[in-house]
Amino acid sequence: MVVLVSSQCSSSCFYCPLSIERKEAKTSFANERPFSSISELLVEAVHMNAKGASMTGGDPLELHSFNKTLSYCKALKEHFSENFHIHAYTRGKDLNKSLLKEITPYLDEIRFHVLNIKKEIKTIQLAIQFEIDVGIEIPVIPTKGMSFYQEIIKKFETIIPKDNRFFFINLNELEISETNYRNILSHKLEVDEVRLSAVKNSSRLAMEIVEWATMNTKIPVHYCALATKDNVQLPNRLFRLAMNTKLPSDVVIEEGTDKGLLIRGIIKTVDYDLEEVKRYLVLDLDIPANLVHIDYEKQRLLTNAALLEEITQEIITKFPKAQVGMAEEYPSFDNLQTTFIPFN
Ligand code: SF4
Repeated sequence: MVVLVSSQCSSSCFYCPLSIERKEAKTSFANERPFSSISELLVEAVHMNAKGASMTGGDPLELHSFNKTLSYCKALKEHFSENFHIHAYTRGKDLNKSLLKEITPYLDEIRFHVLNIKKEIKTIQLAIQFEIDVGIEIPVIPTKGMSFYQEIIKKFETIIPKDNRFFFINLNELEISETNYRNILSHKLEVDEVRLSAVKNSSRLAMEIVEWATMNTKIPVHYCALATKDNVQLPNRLFRLAMNTKLPSDVVIEEGTDKGLLIRGIIKTVDYDLEEVKRYLVLDLDIPANLVHIDYEKQRLLTNAALLEEITQEIITKFPKAQVGMAEEYPSFDNLQTTFIPFN
């Protein structure tokens, strides 16, 4: 489960991909669910049968967000178990011994976003003194060149103790979003011609770094491509959520890039009473009651898409102003709709 504690962050990375909606939001988010109470956070975790969480932002370990992050980590560990794995991302600017002492009993791992390894190595070293796994996670900016990343890896290696904990470096392909693309272009970076959400040559440099690292360091250096996030991580997360929250009438897509999306039959109307439409489906058209669900918030009725296609004509005859069709939707809190195919 991805927990965005708050969008506040004292750094101003030119490539920050945070969306406008998240930047302006006053609440935290558990996946796509906005929340301001611990119980709502737990509802989302239970819904997706989460086995772990990542605390993100913004910077969840800066002072402005620290207490919130601490309370979320505590609640998740207490509600699930010690084995519920939690990691947090941070620039590490506010971290000191006493904050680390407070939070590390509820954290399994910290991932540092490093910009200047010479300055920031001290904070990483401090974190290593606590019983947690420590890693560095950074985007690969092609214009920085190989030497920038080699220095980070070498410096990190000098402070790693020989014990059973896990120390690692994660390299992320640099992403272009609606909020960062102007900055990306003004920093002499280019859009990849084939994958429009990626920065050109970020992937190539990342692969070169990984190759160099296999020969020159013992630290595991991983590369995470945008395609892995979009085609593996997100669909897997949606699939878990879908299997736990689907309505009896929903069909869950089980394979491919749409994995985890719900196929739904939808009757949209503001002209008729939804209860009346439901009664007609159940009593006159013999649709089982458990396959008809009223969604008051979106003023619509949900049912099985295949069944709905068969009875579209009857519905349109009885309720001519209703819109009938099939949709693909995220199982997430916001039920983002990606496709709507009208039947009438
Ligand atoms: S540290 Fe992360 S959240 Fe903060 S500005 Fe940089 S990319 Fe954005």
